[in-house]
Amino acid sequence: MSIWSRPRPSRRQMLCLWLLLLALALAVLGLTDLVFQEDIQKTLKLPRRPMQSLSVGPPDLEVIVDSRDRARHQHIVGLSPLNSLQEDQLLMVVSTQRENSALLPRKENYRVVLPGSKKDSPGTVLPSPGDMEKPVEIQFGSLEKEMERSALQKYGFNEVVSERIPLHRHLPEMRNPACLTERYSDSLPTASVVICFHDEAWSTLLRTVHSVLDTASKKHLREVLLVDDFSQQGYLKSVLSEYVSHLESVRLIRSMRRLGVAGCRTLGAARALGEVLVFMDSHCECSRGWLEPLLERLAEDRTRVVSPIMDVINWQTFEYNATQWPVRGVFDWKLDFHWEHNRKPERGQQDSAEESPIQPVRSPVLGGGVLTIDRHFFQSVEGYDPGMLLWGAEQIELSIRVWSCGGSMEVVPCSRVAHLERHHLPYPFPDQDILQRNKVRIADTWLDAYRKIYYKRDTLAHFIRQSESPNITERVRLKKRLGCQNFHWFLSNVFPELYVPQDRPGLSGELYNVGTGYCADYPQRQGPQGGTMGIAPCSGNGNQHCELNPVGEVRWGPAGALCFNTLRQWVILTPCPAHKLSIKPQWKMIKLSGQLVHLPTQLCLQAVKEGGVSQGTLAENGLFLRPCAHHPRQQWHFEQLVAPKAA
Ligand code: UDP
Ligand code: MN
Repeated sequence: MSIWSRPRPSRRQMLCLWLLLLALALAVLGLTDLVFQEDIQKTLKLPRRPMQSLSVGPPDLEVIVDSRDRARHQHIVGLSPLNSLQEDQLLMVVSTQRENSALLPRKENYRVVLPGSKKDSPGTVLPSPGDMEKPVEIQFGSLEKEMERSALQKYGFNEVVSERIPLHRHLPEMRNPACLTERYSDSLPTASVVICFHDEAWSTLLRTVHSVLDTASKKHLREVLLVDDFSQQGYLKSVLSEYVSHLESVRLIRSMRRLGVAGCRTLGAARALGEVLVFMDSHCECSRGWLEPLLERLAEDRTRVVSPIMDVINWQTFEYNATQWPVRGVFDWKLDFHWEHNRKPERGQQDSAEESPIQPVRSPVLGGGVLTIDRHFFQSVEGYDPGMLLWGAEQIELSIRVWSCGGSMEVVPCSRVAHLERHHLPYPFPDQDILQRNKVRIADTWLDAYRKIYYKRDTLAHFIRQSESPNITERVRLKKRLGCQNFHWFLSNVFPELYVPQDRPGLSGELYNVGTGYCADYPQRQGPQGGTMGIAPCSGNGNQHCELNPVGEVRWGPAGALCFNTLRQWVILTPCPAHKLSIKPQWKMIKLSGQLVHLPTQLCLQAVKEGGVSQGTLAENGLFLRPCAHHPRQQWHFEQLVAPKAA
């Protein structure tokens, strides 16, 4: 029977058929939606996030032309635009749902998994059982290992472990007990926490945001301002916008071009609404009560720039390591930043860490991880240097400027924030010399004649400087306009502990040995506190620079803080004695013979290179004391890599 000859269906049958079809279509739609959502989750490998539970559509993406918006913004907060922002175009995500944060699950249903093999290092504290679910041991299969490896390569830390840690993790209480009874003023200023990010991992970025929201009181937190520095990762686009639009007091703005750390923070500052800016890295976790102690110090004096104690999150295990107090930020003559621990405060100095364990400590520099600064003061010193390229040393520039132009810096011990220390920098830079170029700007703008000391220890920077001059006209003008002090003042008043090398010609440079053709060398793996001196091919990059100073010390290292010393016949490096006046001269160079004599023993410095440096042990190769003799292995020259006038 052909279909044409079928009897026509009745109306009721037709209606049933339509209803059936409709139900089928609805079921299929529902299923695809479910599968699709699951798929997104899988492809992005993101932790479970509350997307499904939200009933609203995507947030409005508003394209804002910068000039128009700046005018509006200026009107709102009474700030003039910062120069570096002139060409920016921004996308701004406006929160669509202010009051619905209750929709978001407060405590995510994640298990905390930490590798079972780890050993607790001294000072390592895992969050207490009440704060964090118990660590679960898992066996990492080869697939897991492979995922960890590729995540490490991509982010510079073990993102696989990070994903398994709750977005809401509470850090253990590590504040000094005296902090817990501190009372803060009722009228503290409000803060904008500005978090710049470039291709940050989802888990670390969101943990940073939640940690701020979970620890800062509503009264003091004006907003969390996320600033996307032109990220390329897909999950940081609409998925992040969607997520953020449902968080109360979180705003997201995006730059349409890569600004780098300094530019991105300046942009955030121009858009921030709080009275105080807290610049925070996009991979931090805050401890309870961290914000008030910082705000209190600023409320007392708006020219103070303050940092919490920066605790450390391990890049491999995500363990939390509490940093020992006292700690302050310093830099060396290669313009590299370090946290300096356990320095004994000099008598009569303002930082009375020993008298009161919770007294803030003055700090010559502050790290970039978390920096708190009054918005108007930041503006009055004109923000970060807009000439700073993508990454590096921008906090050193800001620190020297703050101190030299009327402000001060300190670490506040009752405030603690943990920062993820990465294994390596994850950004591919278009130009490998970015850090050196930034340092050249600092040296030329701020170091005056002291810049020669820097260029001798960073020969790459020296050669860059020889082939091009940084455009610092505006910075020099700014320095004049603000009436800033010179670098001599900075060294005398802010950082008197930094040893100032004299780098006398013929008595400083690489210590070249005629007999071996090698240079005195300190293997980096022995750490910054000292160890056995060795010899190695001359590097030419400034890392082997040392000097014989007028008080008879051979000073080594970028801070000039390590000295040639002896242990029986071995020549070793140890921290230099602090009191210059009381020490007896240790070394003397005899110009004619090239011998370097150890005065207390009257023995000579000799290079020993038995059986090849690469295979030999430290006992066989290196620098030794031997009876003086006219031997090429006891003949030394200080070779200057950088001609004094060129620096
Ligand atoms: N960052 C940025 N743009 C860049 C490089 C970095 O916005 O071009 C962000 C980065 O995501 C982080 C902050 O700036 O939140 C500081 O950078 P980073 O953590 O790499 O500095 P480090 O802690 O290594 O000194
Ligand atoms: Mn960082």
